[in-house]
Amino acid sequence: MSKDWKTRTTLVHEGSRRSQYGEMAEAIFLTQGFVYPTAESAEARFLKTEGDEFIYARYGNPTTRMFEERIAALEGTEDAFATASGMAAVNGALVSMLRAGDHVVSARALFGSCLYILEEILGRFGVEVTFVDGADLDQWRAAVRPGKTKAVFFESMSNPTLELVDIKGVSDIAHAAGALVIVDNVFSTPIFSRAVDLGADVIVYSTTKHIDGQGRALGGVICGTTEFIRKTVEPYMKHTGGSMSPFTSWIMLNGMATLDLRCRAMADSALKVAQALEGDDRLSRVIYPGLSSHPQHDLAIAQMGSGGTMIAFEVKGGKDAAFRAINALEIIKISNNLGDAKSIATHPATTTHQRLPDDQKASLGITPGLIRLSVGLEDADDLIVDLKRGLGCI
Ligand SMILES: *Cc1c(COP(=O)(O)O)cnc(C)c1O
Repeated sequence: MSKDWKTRTTLVHEGSRRSQYGEMAEAIFLTQGFVYPTAESAEARFLKTEGDEFIYARYGNPTTRMFEERIAALEGTEDAFATASGMAAVNGALVSMLRAGDHVVSARALFGSCLYILEEILGRFGVEVTFVDGADLDQWRAAVRPGKTKAVFFESMSNPTLELVDIKGVSDIAHAAGALVIVDNVFSTPIFSRAVDLGADVIVYSTTKHIDGQGRALGGVICGTTEFIRKTVEPYMKHTGGSMSPFTSWIMLNGMATLDLRCRAMADSALKVAQALEGDDRLSRVIYPGLSSHPQHDLAIAQMGSGGTMIAFEVKGGKDAAFRAINALEIIKISNNLGDAKSIATHPATTTHQRLPDDQKASLGITPGLIRLSVGLEDADDLIVDLKRGLGCI
């Protein structure tokens, strides 16, 4: 296939394969396995599998392969492996390459389940993890141990306070120490990702978020070199059972066709909503990387070319005021997903980050008044009216 397609063409056509029936839409190969014409061909397929040689859906499936090829082409990596959820992707990327005695440096501000893998699981198997303030390059520099640090891990934009990690800065430090750079890029979205150009080696997504974008299915994907994906990730994933189901792959393939349009429309609305919220005297803080008031606005524009689809804001009056505000919303739903067509308000302190001790919440900026907003595909003016209605009730 032509590799000089622009993004929207890639998102519609890349990776498509057609059966002998010439179907227009991508087929769902809802099959666990494949039939071999002879015993000899079964033997040959088990001996050497490549390209279209499928054996078992845990190892690979034609619908899943279409999705993997499409996302790899978008991200600019040689290959990708699709997983059952975003967490299967984070776990797979890290655990497949690490062994006892290795050292990892990670940003401290992480999605709760990512923190569980880095704090709990890796330590249990003898991998030492040093946590740093992701925005502070001096801390990364001080934490890496040349030869011993095998990987660095971070979310390129943190949840829920939308702090950016300088991908190029951290990649230069990691590579000088011989470490692989693994980025959880969910909040940046695959559309506003320049992670590969900036030096990331492995990019992980929860496809549950923008890639599906319609709140239907859990999924994840690990993007990287063919060597890393096929020699390191695939053996781990196929033997431990975290592969994406063919039905989910079909959902994700269809999500990708509209991904660029959706992310850009959502980011345009997010900027309008953030501008409408900024300066509202019922709020003590509005955090949106696309606003020039964001301390890392220049980095956001250089790294993503956009402020993204997420906003966070803090209402005056703490938890009670925050609850009154989101309970009064009529369009925006109270939930914890993000990147969905439907706008979603989340109160991190009592839901996604409830389990963190109070001092850790405070140090991460997760205050009782903080609300996270995933901006969807509704009209921005309607969202602004809805939010002002909510704020009118605090
Ligand atoms: C949602 C999310 C995950 C986990 O993805 P699941 O699909 O829910 O398993 C990991 N990292 C980030 C930043 C997320 O937002």
